This record gives sequence, C-alpha cells and structure tokens, in this order.
Amino acid sequence: MHSTASDGALSPQELVELASENGVKLLALTDHDTLSGLDEAAATARQCGIRFVPGVELTCRWNTRVIHLLGLGIDPAHEGWKGYIENLEGLRQARAEKIAKRLVAKKLPEDLLARAQALAGSGQIGRPHFARALIEAGIVSTESEAFDRYLGQGKPGDVKAEWPDMHEAIEQVKASGGFALLAHPTKYNLTFSRLRILVKELGNAGADGFEVAYPGVSQEQIRLLMRMADQHDMYVSAGSDFHTPANRWTHLGRFPQVDTPRQLARVLV
Ligand code: AMP
Ligand code: MN
Repeated sequence: MHSTASDGALSPQELVELASENGVKLLALTDHDTLSGLDEAAATARQCGIRFVPGVELTCRWNTRVIHLLGLGIDPAHEGWKGYIENLEGLRQARAEKIAKRLVAKKLPEDLLARAQALAGSGQIGRPHFARALIEAGIVSTESEAFDRYLGQGKPGDVKAEWPDMHEAIEQVKASGGFALLAHPTKYNLTFSRLRILVKELGNAGADGFEVAYPGVSQEQIRLLMRMADQHDMYVSAGSDFHTPANRWTHLGRFPQVDTPRQLARVLV
C-alpha cells in the first residue's frame, strides 16, 4: 500500500486505520523510494492490533527497463538506506524538474512543477502528482488520461532517469534483512518468455520471489506466475497496491486470493 509519503492519498495513520476497518490483519506499507511513512504506520498498527511489515517499493532498472522491486520486512534503521534513499530523492527531484520543463514546452501551465510539488508535499514526488496537477488545472479529467496524453510511455513527460540497477536494489533489501520481490510482474509489457528470463535473473541476483496477486492480474496470469514460482522455487506475495479511496478499482486490502505454501505472508506472520 502507498501513503502520502509517496503517491498515496492517505497519511500512514489514515491508511492503517482504514485497513483496520476493512479487517486487514497483516499489512505492509510499500511507498515508492522512501521509508518516511513507516514509523507512523507502525505506531498506528500497534494501536489497531494489526501485524505491520515495514516495506518499500524501489524503482530500479533491469537493463534499459524500469521495474519495481518490493522490499518486505526490511529494517528501516539499516545504515545502507540513508544513502540509497537520498540518491533516489535526488533522481526524482531532478526528473520532476525535467518533466515540468518538457510539459511547459508543450504549452502546459508554467506553474505545473509548483502544483505537483505542492501535491507531493513532503512526500517523494512522482508522475501521479503531475497527473493530479493536470486534473487540478483542468487539462485532463482523470489520472489515466494524464498518463495517456502526457506522462505515459513515449509521451513528453516520460523522462528517463538513472535508476539504480536491480542488483543494487536487491542487495540493499537483503542487507537490511528484508525479502526482495518483483512487484506486479505483468505490468511491464513483457511477454511471458521475457518475464521468465527476468525472474531467472532476479533469482540469480538473490531475490526471493514476485507478486502474483494484485489489481488487474487475470486468473490465467496468476496460474502462469504460480507455475513460474514452482519452477524457480520462489516465494509469492499478494497486495492491493492501494493508492486512494477515489479509485473505484482498488480496494484497500482486496486482491485475488491465492492459497499456496509459497506465500511469503506465511513466513512474515
Ligand atoms: P513514477 O514512479 O513517478 O514513475 O510513477 C509511477 C506510478 O504511476 C505507478 O506506480 C502508478 O501508480 C502510476 N501509473 C503508471 N502508469 C499509469 C497509468 N497509465 N495510469 C494511471 N497511473 C499510472
Ligand atoms: Mn509499482
């Protein structure tokens, strides 16, 4: 799940309280490229009697592709995180400035960066903040329209950044005692045979597994992913990838159910 520490709509406290209302018993906060929401979430989880798993979703690179690596059960106090996260903050800030420049050159409002920054607040800035700024400015009506027209692949706001290689991300997660898993494997526009190569390389690099249950994945995809987990002897995880109560398609704590001894949740409880 994501909070205002990155591109989510709810504060860590609000998020965990809503999770509690929804009957969630085990929860990981996995903000993009930041650990800043974890303390508040952990404290709220203690009050609500929810089992809390400190997490993060790291933006990284597999060759030229951008992928997301989940760290679950990490130690946020591990000394390696400070430099790792500072680097990502710098990359995101520099990328945000470039995105704004390119979009202003396309005749979008001059104050786009200021608007996106205001929406991000003290959280890690990302493209969803630009999407919301474009809605606020009356230029698009939904985030997905903002991605289709301005921010998605091949559009002017799709600015490349020198994200760390996935090996570095895996190494940092493992060094801090966490499990490293590829997030939402079917969302990178990869064929299943390419995905097999990625999973094999992840395994060789020390990753523990990948997500199999999340919004938008089909039953057929789940079946193929589960088979891949068997072949590579890896853990699988599930998540609602919750960002905002405004999105009708993702409900906090809801995802396709999978029942397998490979579930990482069984190890984390
Ligand atoms: P960033 O990490 O700043 O590049 O932003 C990536 C985030 O943008 C993802 O985690 C999604 O939440 C969101 N996103 C990516 N593509 C789309 C899309 N086509 N429509 C809506 N949201 C998207
Ligand atoms: Mn993601």
